[in-house]
Amino acid sequence: MSTAVSTPPTRLQCPICGSERFGDFRSRVNVRCSGCGSFERSRLLWLVLSQLELEATGRPFFHVAPEIGIAKLLHARLGERYRAFDFSPDIYAKAKIPVGRLDLCSDLSGMATGSVGGFCHVHVLEHVRCNAALVLQQINRVLAPGGYHVFGVPFWSRQYREDLSSELTDADRLSRFGHEDHVRSFGDQDFTVMFGGAFEGMEAIPLSRLIEVEAAARCNIPPRALTLNNSHSLFVYRKPIP
Ligand SMILES: [Zn+2]
Repeated sequence: MSTAVSTPPTRLQCPICGSERFGDFRSRVNVRCSGCGSFERSRLLWLVLSQLELEATGRPFFHVAPEIGIAKLLHARLGERYRAFDFSPDIYAKAKIPVGRLDLCSDLSGMATGSVGGFCHVHVLEHVRCNAALVLQQINRVLAPGGYHVFGVPFWSRQYREDLSSELTDADRLSRFGHEDHVRSFGDQDFTVMFGGAFEGMEAIPLSRLIEVEAAARCNIPPRALTLNNSHSLFVYRKPIP
C-alpha cells in the first residue's frame, strides 16, 4: 500500500477582516469570506488600496457604493479625508459609517477640477443611467494631480451593450446584462474602444506592478483577477503630476 503524501493546504486569509474561513456563494465554491462577506474583487480592492499613496494629495478620497469592511479600514487610515457616497445612502443606515448621496450622472459636473484626491467605485457603472464614458471622464477631471482612480466593472458580454429604457423587464435585463438592476453590459473585447478615450492623459498602473500572484492567492483571489478584462479585476489609473 502506498503512503499518500499530502501537502498542507495553503493558509488563506481575508486581508480585510483577517478571517481564515471562506464559504460558497451560489455555484461558486469557497469564494466568500465568512468573516466580512467579501468576494474576490473586494479583497483585491483592499490589496490594491494598501499599495497606493492615498494621502499624497491632501484632498478627500471618494468611495462610491462603499464595501463596509473597506470603508472602516479607509476611514481609520484617512480620517476626515475619507468620504463614502452612494446613490441611495439609506441602504447604509445600519452600517456605522456616514454615507452621503452622490449621483454620478448629475453631481460630478459641478465639482471643481482637481478637488478630489482619489476616487474608487467597484461594480457601480453597470447601474448608472447616463453616459458611462462621460462619468469616467468627469471622475478623471475632478481628480487632483497624483490622485488615483480605482474601479471595476462586470464583463458579461464580448461587445458592449446598453439600454437605459425603463420599459425593459427584469427578465430582459437579466438576459441582456446579467442582472435585473443593470442597464449595460461591458464587453471584454471592446472596453478600450468604448472607454479608452475617457483616460486620455491618465497613467495606467498594471495590477502586476502592485500585486503578486502569490499574495493574491493567499487572500483567496484567483490569478485571473489580476488579468484585464474580467469581472474580478480592477483598473488603476493615476493622474500625472505636471
Ligand atoms: Zn473578510
